[in-house]
Amino acid sequence: MRDETASPQTIAYFSMEVALENRLPTYSGGLGVLAGDMLRSAAELELPMVGVTLLHRKGYFFQRLDGDGHQHEEPAAWPVSEFLLPTNGTCQVEIEGRQVTVRAWRYLITAMSGAEVPVLLLDTDVLGNDPYDRTLTHYLYGGDERYRLCQEVILGVGGVRMLRALGYTRVVRFHMNEGHAALLALELFAEELKRTPGQRDSAIDQVKRMCVFTTHTPLPAGHDQFPLDLAQGVLSAEQWDALRALGCCDQALNMTFVALHLSDYVNGVTKRHGEVSRTLFPDHRIGSITNGVHSVTWTAPVFRKLYDRHIPDWRKNNFSLRYALGIPLDAILQAHHEAKQVLIREINNRVNAAFDENAFTVGFARRATAYKRPDLLFHNPDRLRRIAAQHGPLQVVFAGKAHPRDEEGKALIQKIFHWGKELRPDVKIAFLPNYDMELGLLLTAGADLWLNTPQPPHEASGTSGMKAAHNGVPSLSVLDGWWSEVPVEGVTGWTIGSRDRSPSFERRDDEDAQDLYRKLEESILPLYYADPLRWAERMRFTIALNASFFNTQRMVQEYVTHAYRDR
Ligand SMILES: *Cc1c(COP(=O)(O)O)cnc(C)c1O
Repeated sequence: MRDETASPQTIAYFSMEVALENRLPTYSGGLGVLAGDMLRSAAELELPMVGVTLLHRKGYFFQRLDGDGHQHEEPAAWPVSEFLLPTNGTCQVEIEGRQVTVRAWRYLITAMSGAEVPVLLLDTDVLGNDPYDRTLTHYLYGGDERYRLCQEVILGVGGVRMLRALGYTRVVRFHMNEGHAALLALELFAEELKRTPGQRDSAIDQVKRMCVFTTHTPLPAGHDQFPLDLAQGVLSAEQWDALRALGCCDQALNMTFVALHLSDYVNGVTKRHGEVSRTLFPDHRIGSITNGVHSVTWTAPVFRKLYDRHIPDWRKNNFSLRYALGIPLDAILQAHHEAKQVLIREINNRVNAAFDENAFTVGFARRATAYKRPDLLFHNPDRLRRIAAQHGPLQVVFAGKAHPRDEEGKALIQKIFHWGKELRPDVKIAFLPNYDMELGLLLTAGADLWLNTPQPPHEASGTSGMKAAHNGVPSLSVLDGWWSEVPVEGVTGWTIGSRDRSPSFERRDDEDAQDLYRKLEESILPLYYADPLRWAERMRFTIALNASFFNTQRMVQEYVTHAYRDR
């Protein structure tokens, strides 16, 4: 018989980073924003969910840029107890043979209805722990491989034990947001073996039934892996033996393999990414659930007001953003103009760029790293200058952090600074430092066009263009990630590269740049400057077709239907 007095059934969502709110630097980019948006929508849908992550007491980092665009990283410490409630949960994990005490803080995500989703933030900066272990929950993606693997033990193994310590005895699904959390499956396997000693196969089946794995990168090298001797040194003897027995580590401990082996439901984050993942891991069944963004979070205040007036239930039911088709065009233009003014003022205040609120403004903000090609726009600077002279004015705003060890990414920021100086005053370029959620909203709402130029098929999804869509901002994007699911040219944006091109890892910078320039001069700038109402129509289609679909409310509902259902 069912014990109705036991704790309620829960879904535990594990993520190395979660963007809870702008003032908490516990995220680095898209993965963390997605996790936060997922949990916000889960709260709204009153799903019994709990988030698990690390505290990241010193954040990812604060980005400072000098006059040449050199990136300097500073710790981003934050006053933990002002934002989080301490819990009385503690647990121990074994790391390199040491017993490490873990405690947890709680952050509550509260929906409009009052429904709550708690998030547990694990913390090893505890008196009595070894000095090294005390630093393990300080920096997101900081340190070396050893530091990272130790963090993953805390997240995966510590996370499961913390849930148990806090009374979560009936967690029916454990969702790994990327491979960083894969060691949770190993801990569940140990729990099962303890319950039914010697029954390895049924223990594995049991674990698989509980686990859901979402992979986020189509790059083989992007998957988290560790040298075997490091893994053997960090993990406990039982964990090491279990890994060997599961056959998850041949030349390295690959966290994606661990998660794939121990999950019954695996998905990529767009249809295209699902396809690419199936070719990377042909032995596994891999589905896809297309990403989204949390609609209210990523809609600028002025657009929230507009939707409240015309689509009263849009906050509760994001699908009804399709009724944006009934909003008058001049109201959309007016709202966008206000959002744009806010952005232009902010740009001019922050970096003294003398941006003009009547000039066509392109936005580009994402992690500064090679495959995202933030420099594609500067492939032929003379052509860009000519386009601005003939069809402009044209100004471009950039933002994005490079990972502290990504020298190529840092060089790209400098390259943007360089071209900013070269092209002035023909094309104005601004780079805003310290990209974060707040800046993300300002940029995606205030730009006239959102530019997305990753090298296909490297971008699993991308989400900033979905934020732009919530504010009626069309995209100019290569055909990759989420944009592959936007079928019609010229309606909610424009496409760089052809549709019949099969995914390959070949760089086609020249071809793509020519296409980018051609779309700007033939389609985009003439429409924007000559025909504001037809431009506004494109904005309205962008809201109705893209925001109504690319949101986390729809996404969470798909997870419920496909990933969390009984199986
Ligand atoms: C949305 C967002 C991202 C992710 O954008 P992509 O288009 O997926 O690269 C990264 N950082 C911040 C601060 C964001 O708000």
